[in-house]
Amino acid sequence: MRMTRRELLIGAGAGALGVLLVSCTPEPKPTRTPTRTPSPLPTTNVPAPADSVRSSWATDQYSRGAVSYTRIGVQSDTRATLAEPVEGRVYFAGEATDVDNPSTMRGAIHSGESAAMRLRATAEAGERIAVIGAGLAGATVAADLADLDVEVTVFEARDRVGGRVHSHLDDDWPIPVQLGGWLVSPDDDSDLAESVDLASALWRSAGADIEPVANAPLDAAITLAQTFPADVSLTEALIATGADPEEPGLASLLAYLATTSGADAEKLSAWFPPALPRAASKGIVGDLGAYVRTQLSDAQLTLSSPVTRIAYDDAGVSLRLGTGESTSFDRVVVTVPLGVLQRDGIEFAPPLPFTHRGALNALGMGHVETIWLRYDEPFWDTEATIWHAVGDGPAGGGGLTLEDAVMVRTWINLLPVTGENLLVGIVGGDDAEKFAELEEEGALLSALTSLELFLPSGATG
Ligand SMILES: Cc1cc2nc3c(=O)[nH]c(=O)nc-3n(C[C@H](O)[C@H](O)[C@H](O)COP(=O)(O)OP(=O)(O)OC[C@H]3O[C@@H](n4cnc5c(N)ncnc54)[C@H](O)[C@@H]3O)c2cc1C
Repeated sequence: MRMTRRELLIGAGAGALGVLLVSCTPEPKPTRTPTRTPSPLPTTNVPAPADSVRSSWATDQYSRGAVSYTRIGVQSDTRATLAEPVEGRVYFAGEATDVDNPSTMRGAIHSGESAAMRLRATAEAGERIAVIGAGLAGATVAADLADLDVEVTVFEARDRVGGRVHSHLDDDWPIPVQLGGWLVSPDDDSDLAESVDLASALWRSAGADIEPVANAPLDAAITLAQTFPADVSLTEALIATGADPEEPGLASLLAYLATTSGADAEKLSAWFPPALPRAASKGIVGDLGAYVRTQLSDAQLTLSSPVTRIAYDDAGVSLRLGTGESTSFDRVVVTVPLGVLQRDGIEFAPPLPFTHRGALNALGMGHVETIWLRYDEPFWDTEATIWHAVGDGPAGGGGLTLEDAVMVRTWINLLPVTGENLLVGIVGGDDAEKFAELEEEGALLSALTSLELFLPSGATG
């Protein structure tokens, strides 16, 4: 997950960074590459950071991706179907079950509130209720049932709470490193933790800064698609309006959209599109884990306890844990991510009704990954807080010659709002999946070469 400047520099070998360091780091012993000739490493004038940390949600067995998205042809009521309780015993919550704000922290919290409301209408005094997952949805269920005369036990597979919000605390970093959700709408008043305004955007191409790319082409495409006899992808809808999704400005806007929807435009429904990109955001810079822990304070919490099987009937629910141990409850709320349910991360006995299995398979699980870079000194000179890389970098091709390298087009500059030399790269959709597969060195070099566009003029070499 983490690579220090020294490790990067040793690894960079053939690049400009490596050249810079040859004099001050011992020559690594040559190693054999048994199967193929290594592709050339990129060169970049972007300085190596003092430290970097990145996420890996794509390969995380307790998330299996980052956020749910609505596939082409999938009906809007699919998420509502998923939220329907089964036999009054098995309840569902989590961002994928929220109709109005799926794929978001707000959606996760709202889904937890909805599940708790349903339980309040059915649960009787003294009942034992299990909640699976200590993310925002599960923590909200627990908090909302705290004043009810029921016993709530939360089972969490990880050794920490928060799930897809993960404020990584490290003495080497001046603020929590947000590896999952942390950006909210500027008017969001949920007050989860301390936040900063990210109000100014910069759209930069190799030639010059360009006008901010507005959502107008997306609005037009969605409006046109509503007149079609069947759903199409957002890409097809854009093309139908005469727009070119590969035009660099629009491509960057779509890359930005993928950082929140988790999917590329060719996979997204035009009839039920995700929330469109925001020009400005609020970034949470406090510890989201503290918020989640507060929500869970009245419940019994069991960490490192993956649930592997849920058996249910008229009388109640039996949960089997990863240890093989079984335990009984009156009702259960399942808040694990869609990706976990799609991959049979939990066995249901009897199997869930067709309606639920249909809904689970109809929705898509998308990808978002992030990389945080910490510098001792900033190399950039812009005060803008949300950066968009448009088109290729100054080297033509973004300097990306590393095989399988990924262009990280969306960046958050935290320096103007926190006083700390921090840059946060965010990548979504297929690129995020690719990014997650990169070795540490490839990911960091991808990030650095993607930043070339933001070098002050004259520094591009
Ligand atoms: C990289 C990234 C960036 C994001 N950016 C934003 C953003 O800027 N703004 C925004 O609003 N949203 C963002 N999101 C989405 C947001 O984080 C999620 O929608 C939200 O946190 C989901 O909460 P949840 O409770 O539904 O699921 P989760 O947080 O995933 O909680 C489910 C819990 O279930 C646990 N679990 C899984 N399997 C088992 C099992 N078998 N037994 C027991 N426990 C299990 C998991 O460990 C997890 O803790 C982002 C997500 C990611 C990954």
